[in-house]
Amino acid sequence: MKQFITAGGMKRRVLIVDDEIINREILGAMLSQTYEIAFAANGQEAMDALNDPEADFSLILLDLLMPVMDGFEVIRRCHADETLRRIPIIVMTSEKSAEVQSIRMGAADFITKPYDMPEVILARCERIIELSEDKSIIRSTERDRVSGLYTRGYFFAYMHRLLPRLNTPMDALALNIDRFHLINELFGREEGDRVLRQIGDLIAQILTTAKGIACRSDSDTFFIFLERNDDYDAMIAEIQNKLNESAKARNIRLRAGIYSCDDSGISPENSFSRAKAACDRIRGQFGASTARYNNELYKRTVFHERLIGDLQEAIDRHELIVYYQPKYRIQGDRPRLSSAEALIRWIHPELGFISPGEFIPLFEKNGLIRTVDCYVWREAAAQVKRWRDQYGVTLPVSVNVSRVDIFDPELTNKLSGLLEEFSLSSDDLVLEITESAYSDGADRLIEVVNDLRGKGFKIEMDDFGSGYSSLNMLTTIPIDVLKLDMQFIRNMLLDETSHKLVELVMDIAKYLEVPVVAEGVEEEPQLNALKEMGCDIVQGYYFSPPLPPQRMTELIEKECNYKGGENHDNH
Ligand code: C2E
Ligand code: MG
Ligand code: MG
Repeated sequence: MKQFITAGGMKRRVLIVDDEIINREILGAMLSQTYEIAFAANGQEAMDALNDPEADFSLILLDLLMPVMDGFEVIRRCHADETLRRIPIIVMTSEKSAEVQSIRMGAADFITKPYDMPEVILARCERIIELSEDKSIIRSTERDRVSGLYTRGYFFAYMHRLLPRLNTPMDALALNIDRFHLINELFGREEGDRVLRQIGDLIAQILTTAKGIACRSDSDTFFIFLERNDDYDAMIAEIQNKLNESAKARNIRLRAGIYSCDDSGISPENSFSRAKAACDRIRGQFGASTARYNNELYKRTVFHERLIGDLQEAIDRHELIVYYQPKYRIQGDRPRLSSAEALIRWIHPELGFISPGEFIPLFEKNGLIRTVDCYVWREAAAQVKRWRDQYGVTLPVSVNVSRVDIFDPELTNKLSGLLEEFSLSSDDLVLEITESAYSDGADRLIEVVNDLRGKGFKIEMDDFGSGYSSLNMLTTIPIDVLKLDMQFIRNMLLDETSHKLVELVMDIAKYLEVPVVAEGVEEEPQLNALKEMGCDIVQGYYFSPPLPPQRMTELIEKECNYKGGENHDNH
């Protein structure tokens, strides 16, 4: 911290509070070489200056006897304030008894009037500031133990203090290690920590000559607030080269996102989330090591912020609409409607139709998906009941359960509560859990799935084969239905291997005695091939796209007439 302020040539600020102009001038003259000075003529003016959010004083020199508000009251008020308490106070007085009292009240030191030894006064001020800064450093958890840089919380608190006083152009850099988890997996956590430590050291080294501060934001992401530089590519390349000289993994790659902090209306947190967005954009791109935040990203961020801001209102106003895509049982003389999947749509009054592909990943990132999912489950439960009440048919609906929901301790209670509220059975609401959730934290997932199955819920493994699962998982996690990823179906008739893979999945499912749902079936040849392989249920544009509730109801009516009111069964 000290290094930054001195390296940047910025002076600490001292507030001199004295009602006599002559005293203010003498002290001001003594200290103005070393510090930036502000003056107050009484306690009230001092409090006003201290409470200015942009003021950042390192020391208060305080006279005790003043009109309007005296020095004792200033000490008392500062002491009662969480932020001001940290600023040391040196009391200026000629009365011995007042010295003792003020030190008892929390003043750090005293200077006796008249002020005839400037060097002594300056030395006292320096010592008191140093002491208080060391104390606050010890007090706060400002160092990240792994990297040796600041912690994220301290970094932002510090940046808020620095910003008003900066007059050089600064940039926000978010630095990330490509596929850091591989270093941990291949060489162990210790080596991972060593790499993080070395990056911390290399960044700290840069900051000895360039003005800036840095922190480790989370796992393998570093934030650097740095004086503008015209060759970040070279800077990142240098860190990367030094890393690769000593790391066990010889091909560590770094990438950085850059946002220029020229707009004082953008908060430090926002500046860095923009830098991070730029950094994320080049994830996995070959050759790119730096990227700047640009207009397109800006629009995206603003769009996402809008969606986050509008979500609650959208729920309240029913702008989120649950569509239903029918699933058909294909074995037998003709395909029969067997169930439907609830899929959310957002009909925004100004932005129009928004696809879940746009907002689901966003809400999964910030946890809002829990609110969305609860809403969808409730809508779906109400709809199942309505269909039953209106047509006497029970059409089970499957709902998507996000991986984020798995960590909700109330998940089982929420779902069971819905069944009770709408007088449904656990067969009426099937749960689709996407395959990637299975690799996120298998232990927790097994626990949750067992709990849900204990309550009678059926679990479909959604997007099976989309890239994360291992066959091993199928033996450890109990599931009731396998839902084959759309990509398989798309390629099934185009290449031999995909065809073989679908057959293989069918065999595995048969062995495990679970039915298979194929989704994304668009053409008749796909349907026929699947039927031949023994696939049970099909969902896709071939039969129908996801439909708004009214159109789904019409489809049910048609099916009822066709079947003469026969009840649908569960798959
Ligand atoms: P998913 O659960 O795998 O849903 C299937 C997706 O495939 C749906 O996309 C559906 O419209 C689409 N689809 C169905 N048949 C066909 C077809 O024949 N061809 C093609 N090209 N696409 C087909 P959608 O509705 O855009 O949803 C995308 C994803 O968003 C879903 O994938 C699901 O992961 C997520 N999602 C949708 N609604 C919800 C929800 O309420 N909660 C959660 N957590 N996720 C949801
Ligand atoms: Mg699904
Ligand atoms: Mg799916």
